[in-house]
Amino acid sequence: MPHCPLDPEVLRATLEAAGLRCTPQRLAVYDHLAQAEHHPTAEEVFRAVRTEVPRISLATVYKALEALVETGVAARLPAVAGDSGARYDARRDPHYHFRCLRTGTVHDLPTHFDPDLVARLDPELAAYLSRRGFQVTGYRLELLGFQSPADDTRRDGARNLTATAGDGERPS
Ligand SMILES: [Zn+2]
Repeated sequence: MPHCPLDPEVLRATLEAAGLRCTPQRLAVYDHLAQAEHHPTAEEVFRAVRTEVPRISLATVYKALEALVETGVAARLPAVAGDSGARYDARRDPHYHFRCLRTGTVHDLPTHFDPDLVARLDPELAAYLSRRGFQVTGYRLELLGFQSPADDTRRDGARNLTATAGDGERPS
């Protein structure tokens, strides 16, 4: 799935427009996040970035990630039971995920995002939500399951799992 990380100057301008400083630590955190495919936790980002920026602290990484989320440069994926914390995503376009409940890792699904999926799921939902006074601003789709340990590093594992998960998603 194509993903274009932000140019450092665009990142700097975005942070500064929000009144936030674009520090080397924040740039390093963003660079790692933009390259990582598994949507790392703050601690994972910390462990990776520490090798390039030895004096960085976990608190600084947390603050950098929150600055990226606050400015819309990155998204925070809430933790699920058993995971060690929220995960972070540098992709800005709407997309779907699949999450391994054993390792907690989250990957992008290699398929296009369908903005009309909820209406397709049930055409009555829009009227129901409108009656409840609920305004829909978006939706998330995350497939949950277990990735075989042997497949953890397989890049094409995503496509295989899509087919498997898709079969399981059929209404019974
Ligand atoms: Zn993602």
